[in-house]
Amino acid sequence: MGSRVRPDSLVWARFPAWLERHYPQGRATVLSESDIRAAIAAKKAKQESFGHWQYARLLHEWQGLPRGTLFADGVVVPGYPKIGRVQTLTGVLSQFHAPCWVEEKVDGYNVRLFRAGDALYAATRGGLVCPFTTDRLPDLIDPAVFSAHPELILCGEVTGPETPYIEGTSPLVPQGIGFFLFDLMRQGVEGFFPVEERRALARSFGLPAVPFHGRIDPKDLGRLREIVRRLDAQEREGVVLKEDSPRNFRAKYVTGSAELSDIASMTQRYLDVPPEYFTERVLRLALFLEDMEEPDREEWWHRQLGKAFLSALRERIAAARQGRCVGSFCCRFHAQENAVRLLDHLGQIRGHEGETRLVSLQDEGGAWVLRFEKLYRSTTGFLRNALGGSLRFD
Ligand code: ATP
Repeated sequence: MGSRVRPDSLVWARFPAWLERHYPQGRATVLSESDIRAAIAAKKAKQESFGHWQYARLLHEWQGLPRGTLFADGVVVPGYPKIGRVQTLTGVLSQFHAPCWVEEKVDGYNVRLFRAGDALYAATRGGLVCPFTTDRLPDLIDPAVFSAHPELILCGEVTGPETPYIEGTSPLVPQGIGFFLFDLMRQGVEGFFPVEERRALARSFGLPAVPFHGRIDPKDLGRLREIVRRLDAQEREGVVLKEDSPRNFRAKYVTGSAELSDIASMTQRYLDVPPEYFTERVLRLALFLEDMEEPDREEWWHRQLGKAFLSALRERIAAARQGRCVGSFCCRFHAQENAVRLLDHLGQIRGHEGETRLVSLQDEGGAWVLRFEKLYRSTTGFLRNALGGSLRFD
C-alpha cells in the first residue's frame, strides 16, 4: 500500500485556530505499518533504535517524503528540505516575487526536536536520533512547549565549541552549546508555519531563535547589502530569506567571512575533503566581493584568503610532525550511556565515517565529559610522507 496524503480534520482540530488559518501549504501524511515495511524492503528506509524506542528513517526521498523523514508508531517527522543558494544578490531580484523576512543563517548542525510518547528526541538531518542533542535537549529549550503542543517539531541549528559534529563555532555561542529555532513543523505534515506565527510561539514559550533582521522588499538590494555587510564584519554566516507569501519560498546567501572560515576549518583536513569544496568557496568569495562592491581588495588578496589556507596548513604540518592530523572534540552529557551511544552513532553520520578514537570519558563536576578525536587519514599520510622525504611523481 502506498502512502496516503489527505487533509486530516481530526488532527487539524487539535490545532489553534490561527495556525489552521495561516497554514495553507501543510498536507497530512498517514503511513501504515506496511508502507514502512515496503520502504525498508526497497532499501529506501532503515530500521533504527534509540534505547528501547524503535523507528525507521528515510535514506532517500520516497513517495514525496524527503530524505531524513523519521517514522514510528503514530509518529511522522518530515525531513528538513534543502535550501537553494542565491550566488549573487541579483539572484534575490530574480527569485523572490514578494517581500521577504531576513533571518540570520546560524552556522551549526540542523536538528528537529519532537515528542514521541512521553519522551523528547532530537533528530539530525539524516533522520538519526542524536544521542548528544537528545541528552542535552532540556538545556536547549523549555520542554513545556511540548506539553502544550505535543505535535510540534522544532527545527533549529545547534552550535557552539562543544558539539560532536563541527569544529569551531558561531560567534553567537562562544562557550558550550546553544540552540536557535528557525522553523516549526507539525508531525505528519509537510510544510512550515508562517514566520510570524513561529515567532509568536517562540516568544510565548521563551524559545531561543535565530536573530531576525527585518522584512525587506527584494528590490531593495541596498538594504540587504547593508545587513550582509554588517554580518560579514562580525564574521557571521549569512542570511536565509523567507518569502512572505503562500509559496513560502526561501533561499540562503552566505558572507565572504563565512567562506573564509569554512576554508580555514576544512583545510585542517585538506586532503580528506573533495577539492571542489575549496574551489567552489573561492569562487563564491570572489562573487561576494563583487556584490559588496568592496573597494579594498588588497586585504582579501594578500592576507585573508592566503591566511585561511596557509595558517591552517602550517598548523597541520606541525601536527603531522608530531604524529597525526586529528580533529579534537569535547562534549558534555547528563547520562553516561548517551556518550557511549554517540560514539557508536558517529560512524553512521555522513561526513563523520572516518576513524574516531576515544580520548576520555569522565565525570567532571556532575557532567559526563566525552573527549574524542577524528583522524584525518589522507592529510596525515600525505604530510608524513612529504616530511619524511619521500619522492612523489605527480
Ligand atoms: P541544504 O540545507 O541546502 O541542504 P546544507 O545542508 O549544506 O544545505 P547549509 O548550506 O548550511 O546546509 O544551509 C542550509 C541549512 O542552514 C539548513 O539546513 C539549516 O540547518 C541551516 N540554517 C541556519 N539558519 C537558518 C535559518 N534561519 N533558516 C533556515 N535554515 C537555517
